[in-house]
Amino acid sequence: MSIRPESRNTEDPESGGSARSRRNPESETVSDAFLKAIPYGILLLSNDGVLLRANDQAFTELNLPPDVRGQRLTDVVSIFNCEKSLLPRMLAELNDGTEQIALPANTFVQGRDKKARLFIRGRMNRLNEEEILFAFRNVVEEVTRDFMLKMALSSTKIFPWFYDMDQHKMIIDPRYFEYTRISSADHSMTLEEFTERLHPDDREAMAHAFAQQLNGEHYPYPVPFRLRLGGGSYEWFEGQSTYLGQVEGVPYRVVGICMSTQAHKNIEEALTTARDKAEQSDRLKSAFLANMSHEIRTPLNAIVGFSNLLADKNASVSSADAQEYADLISKNCDYLLTLVSDILDLSSIETGIMEYRFSTHPLAYLLTDIYRKYDHLTSEKVKLHLLLPPEDVQLETDVLRLRQALDNLLVNALKFTDEGRIDLGFSLAEDGASVRIFVSDTGRGIPEEQFDRIFERFYKVETFVQGAGLGLSICKTITENLGGTVTVASRVGEGSCFTLCLPLRRRS
Ligand code: ADP
Repeated sequence: MSIRPESRNTEDPESGGSARSRRNPESETVSDAFLKAIPYGILLLSNDGVLLRANDQAFTELNLPPDVRGQRLTDVVSIFNCEKSLLPRMLAELNDGTEQIALPANTFVQGRDKKARLFIRGRMNRLNEEEILFAFRNVVEEVTRDFMLKMALSSTKIFPWFYDMDQHKMIIDPRYFEYTRISSADHSMTLEEFTERLHPDDREAMAHAFAQQLNGEHYPYPVPFRLRLGGGSYEWFEGQSTYLGQVEGVPYRVVGICMSTQAHKNIEEALTTARDKAEQSDRLKSAFLANMSHEIRTPLNAIVGFSNLLADKNASVSSADAQEYADLISKNCDYLLTLVSDILDLSSIETGIMEYRFSTHPLAYLLTDIYRKYDHLTSEKVKLHLLLPPEDVQLETDVLRLRQALDNLLVNALKFTDEGRIDLGFSLAEDGASVRIFVSDTGRGIPEEQFDRIFERFYKVETFVQGAGLGLSICKTITENLGGTVTVASRVGEGSCFTLCLPLRRRS
């Protein structure tokens, strides 16, 4: 027998009155076939929780003994949620007049013999004055799948959504709103709201993909897009969707996921930058080596040639010529020395063995000393000026390294300025805690797009001009190790100004 009706006859056809006060005759005429057909476990209980009737599904799911009728349900199974027994409380509420109570999520039922243990969803209804209907569904599979999905999603930035064709809204995983800091009371967004948040350049591709899906044509490709977050910044995502069912050519529902790909984009960008840098570094190193032979040979040839001339007893060299040759030899020796020390410095910078010894120095005094060294090196058409504020400051720094950085700037200023002036000086920054030391010139200037590149190793704006392209790179590294920054402002044809911004006191 598939349906096991109660043996007890509790019907009282004489008792009239309201639906509530009378037994609903339908409860007795419900056919066995009907009870068997519905995909629910059905239990009919008396007000005090005695089992009157159960369908096959209930017997099977709860593993009820055949002689269960007439027993209290609480003696056969425990129904609980968060460790609390539900049945007595629900029966009490129904007896107090509540018509219907839904089981809370994650309600668990366990048979006394522990053979049946399952999650159920369902509700209890007051059927008539004497009977309560308890309908439930085994949701173990659903709860498990739901839990597994939630667990998997919680460690990702993937957000499922579906498009409700009736409400014309995207219903999105609540985590999405938490993550993007976009506010929505009901975790939904209209297509217009979503489109407004897309980066203008990505709207067309997204509209195309969505239109295809809504027309019932599968569009299985991921669509990358940038979304404006609650905070106003854009983040990269990737969306993918499909549709469920079709009614007269129109999908019943479009479902999809969107996934933040920002972390991948960041890695991709970092890798691309690193690769570009490595490639560029490689190119620059090759250019450097090719250049080096020229940079070293030219001064060496000059030194050897003029030395030979001076040493040649047969050559009649006037004393004025001899002085000129000696000056040329000295100049080329200086150049070679700078070149060699730049290369050595670069190698100690790159291997991290350049040492810094900090002590306190009066800055005006230091700049005056540097000024004296360069003043007589300028050409006739270029004048070097020292611009100092009325009050000197004490600067905690490695004075040798700072001199080296300024030397590089001054050598460049001299090299690239044919006429006009070069200014060396400093001013105290507004914060009173740092100084700006500047070297400005009225030389040929630097195109703005080269501002960053000139600080790279081996980089020269014009490859044919003498120099190894190391001075500014060394200057930048030194300044940063002194706790400061170096910046450039320049206009082609007008001049350049390099500024070192250094803290007065060493930052620990
Ligand atoms: P180099 O030793 O070749 O001068 P740097 O690293 O010192 O190398 O400078 C790199 C490039 O920056 C130079 O080749 C030059 O093109 C440009 N540059 C640097 N300083 C100046 C300046 N004061 N005026 C114009 N161009 C400059």
